[in-house]
Parts: sequence; structure tokens; C-alpha cells
Amino acid sequence: MKRVAIIGGGFSGLSAACYLGRAGYDVTVYEKNSVLGGRARVLERDGFKFDMGPTFYWMPDIFEKFFNDFDKKSSDYYELIRLDPGYEIYFGPNNSVRVSADVKKTVETFENIEPGSGAFLENFLKSAEFNYRVAIDKVVEKPGKSIFELIMPQTIARVSQFKESISQHIRKNIKDDRLRQILEFPVLFLGAKPSRTPLFYCFMNYADMVLGTWHIKGGMYGLVEAMVKISEGYGVKFITDAHVNSIITEGSKAVGISWSNTSDSKEERNSVSEMADFIISSADYHFAETLLEPKFRNYSEKYWSKRVFAPSAMLYYVGFDKKLEGISHHTLFFDADFIEHSETIYDTPRWPNKPLFYGSFPSVTDPTLAPKGKECAVFLIPVAAGLKDTPELRENYFLQILERIEQTTGIKVSDSVLFKESYSVSNFMEDYHAYKGNAYGLSNILTQTAFLKPKMQNRHLSNLLYAGQLTVPGPGVPPAIISGKIAAGIARKKLKHG
Ligand SMILES: Cc1cc2nc3c(=O)[nH]c(=O)nc-3n(C[C@H](O)[C@H](O)[C@H](O)COP(=O)(O)OP(=O)(O)OC[C@H]3O[C@@H](n4cnc5c(N)ncnc54)[C@H](O)[C@@H]3O)c2cc1C
Repeated sequence: MKRVAIIGGGFSGLSAACYLGRAGYDVTVYEKNSVLGGRARVLERDGFKFDMGPTFYWMPDIFEKFFNDFDKKSSDYYELIRLDPGYEIYFGPNNSVRVSADVKKTVETFENIEPGSGAFLENFLKSAEFNYRVAIDKVVEKPGKSIFELIMPQTIARVSQFKESISQHIRKNIKDDRLRQILEFPVLFLGAKPSRTPLFYCFMNYADMVLGTWHIKGGMYGLVEAMVKISEGYGVKFITDAHVNSIITEGSKAVGISWSNTSDSKEERNSVSEMADFIISSADYHFAETLLEPKFRNYSEKYWSKRVFAPSAMLYYVGFDKKLEGISHHTLFFDADFIEHSETIYDTPRWPNKPLFYGSFPSVTDPTLAPKGKECAVFLIPVAAGLKDTPELRENYFLQILERIEQTTGIKVSDSVLFKESYSVSNFMEDYHAYKGNAYGLSNILTQTAFLKPKMQNRHLSNLLYAGQLTVPGPGVPPAIISGKIAAGIARKKLKHG
């Protein structure tokens, strides 16, 4: 039986493992951390449970399609709850808008705020739905080899949407600043400024307002556990605490990997070499290439230094000793200047003075995530990749967050903090080998889209592929799962033909 080694046990690696396991290969996943899930690990403390990474379960159809590929449904593994509101955005003290699970209500909300904007939203969402179908049904599973993958009647008809930015389009048609920001928010998941994101990506608005925001009962890690169960059913083996140190090559082939056990003390740590017929690295692309001799790498350091990276993040996992009455499960704090903040991420990387931030309070919906009468919260400030974080910065931003929650929502929180743990740029580097500590990979700007992303195929070693959020299709949990599927498909073809 041919052997496949997968480096990294995040969503893309798990997905590749499921598909290749099902195809009958002898698959082993090597994960440097002590648990699987990659950026979607869990932190548990004092009866609180925090999703350390993704919290928005968007595009449920993509997850369903994944499970269907294995003759399963998501409900075989976890319970999904549709959130209503999907989220709430605060623009200032007692000034917030809730985005309902019922799109008709959202249209009404728009119309009440700005006459005429309801009709605009309805048309915008129709166009967004068309784009969603094109993106998901025709483009997203393409391997990103050439521009021809994108050329089809549906995209030719929408070529103007690649020239205009989503921001230009929204700002031309909507005057109210709050509504503008609501419509610009979904593309922030693509890790770029709305002013640099093509209008075509409005399919994210369809995902947001029509397909909705969901929550896995028990937390996002339920998806990791489901994927591990599926792959184990096909005999996939997982080795955690397994730090891959190098990819072994012979001529124009990768023939194996060398790894060491990170749970052994440094003095006792031995390298183990294991052979493989095919290797997929789902670790961060830049790092994965450092496992090779320079002559085998696809890209130079200069190439990486010129890429536009999606943000890193300053994160806090907080236990509150009371319920925060009236807070929404997902709450965004946009009571700050978005343009000023985004300049600090993309134009002149620096720490922002007054950043926008996001709060997830999953125990509002799901009592399994916090002790009775208490609330768990995850706060996220998007910041430029590559910044140096310090304990003082972590403390100062946390105090600012508490103050702004009190100002905007009127809920007293500062005297109810049981504990907080922070996580930022340096942790991303250390825990995931993330280039400059990026959280979400590369920005999905036009020049880094589809066939312009770092290629899956290693140019020098025919049996080495890269998967994950730095290659196609891009950042986010659904794209990471698709990335693993694409890589598995290429690997299968190659393994079959020699
Ligand atoms: C804070 C945060 C919030 C997010 N929010 C959302 C959200 O709400 N919704 C959404 O859809 N997406 C969200 N995302 C994005 C999403 O989580 C990622 O795009 C996705 O999880 C990436 O998966 P991946 O497999 O590409 O990479 P990873 O999850 O990073 O997996 C790569 C794995 O490789 C391992 N590895 C690295 N080096 C080695 C080595 N030498 N040996 C062995 N293993 C190695 C790493 O430890 C890691 O486990 C968020 C991300 C972050 C960080």
C-alpha cells in the first residue's frame, strides 16, 4: 500500500487525510502540537471552554458537502444552532444594529435606517447569490494552475466586478456609514481591505445574510473531532507532538520526512526518519519550504516579503463571573475609525490606537461552554502581521476593550473578570510556525487570488504538494477543507500514474 505523509493536523491536513484514507492509501498525519486542529485548538480553564481560533461557522453547505463525500451528515457528529441575530455591531454608546437570521428583517432594518437601501440590499444579495454559486460550484475547487480556470461565461459576464472594489460599489449606493460597514464586514474574513477586495467577492454577503451564522454545540472543535473520526475510520494514523524537521529528497522526488518528538526533553530528542511515496505539507507554506534545501523551494524570501499578508491578531480568552445580560453571541465593536485601523494593518504596520475589535460570547447560546451563571468570551483585535507584542501592550488593549464594552453596551464588565489569557503574534509564530505570526494567511486581493496564489505543486519535487490557507483557495475553515480536498485529488492522480 502506498504511503502518504501529511505534515500538519489543521483543517486542510485533516481534510486531505480523510480523502486519501478513503482512497485506500496508508496515511499518517504528523502534528507538532500535542493536539490536532491547528489554529482551531481549544483552551479549557476552570470549567470554561474557548475556541482559540475560528468561531464563525459560515457556509454550512460546504461542510455538508464535505460530510456527504463520506456518506455522512454534519448531524451524525454535532448539533448545529443557527444564531439569531447572526451578530450585532456597535457603532457607539447604545448605538447598535443586529443582523437578523431572517433576511427580510435585515432588509427592513436597512430601509428604516436609510430609505432606498432595502431595495439596494435585495438586489445586491441576488447578485451575491449568483456569485456564490459561481465561486462555490465552478471555481473554488480548482487547483489554481492557470487563469483559464477562471474564464467561463459566468465570470466573463461579471468582469466589471473584478475591476470595481466592493467598497466602491457599496459607498456609491449607500450613504449611512453603519450600513456601509455592515456590508463591508464579511469580506474582512478574506484578510484584505474592502477597498482592495473585488466586488465579485460580495458572495461573502450572501454567506452572511442568507446562509447565516451557525454554532456547533460544544464549540468549533466538534468539527475537528468529526474529521478525525472519519479519517480514523479509514485507518489514518495521527502522531501528535511530532515536529517535522526536514523533508528527505532523492533526485526529483521527496522520499520521506524526518521528525522528532517534542514531548521528549531537548537533550533526549532524536530524529526519526520515515519513508513516504507522497508528501502533503499543510503547515504554513513559507515554513514548509524551510524543510527543504533552498534549491528545492518554490519561492524565495524576497517573494514572501513582498506578499500582502492577512492580519495577525491580539486575542483574549476571558472568564466572567456573571452572565452579561443582553450581549449577543457575536458582537463587533466598530466604535472606532475603520480606515485609521486598517492603515495600521495594511499600509504602515504598527499597533493601532483605537482598534475595531470583535467579541464572541458563545455561552450566551451554549451553556456547555461556561459554568452556570458565568460567561465565556473571546476577544479579537486584528493587527498587522510581524509586529512585536509585549506584556504591556497585551494589558493595555485588554483594559481598553473592557472600557469600550462598558461605554457601548452599558454592561459593567471590568469588575467581573475571573481570569484572562492572551494570545498574539509571537504565539502564532511559535505554535504554528506562522510567517510573521499571520493568523489568516494571505490577503485575498486580486493579485493574490486563485492562480496567483502560491502554487500547490512543488516545482522541483513531483510528489510534494502544499495545502492550507496560504495556497488555494485561501483563508477560512471552508477553504482550508477544500484545499485539503484539492491536494488529495492531485495526489491520487499522481500516485495512480506512477
Ligand atoms: C484567531 C482566528 C480566528 C479565525 N476565525 C475564523 C472564523 O471565524 N471562521 C473561519 O472560517 N475561519 C476563521 N479563521 C481561519 C481558519 O481558522 C484558518 O484558515 C484554518 O483553520 C487554517 O487551517 P490550515 O490547515 O490551513 O492551517 P493550520 O490550522 O495552521 O494547520 C497547520 C498545522 O501544521 C502544524 N505544523 C506546523 N509546522 C509543523 C511541523 N514542523 N511539523 C508538524 N506540524 C507542523 C501546525 O501546528 C498546525 O496544526 C480564524 C483563524 C484564526 C487564527
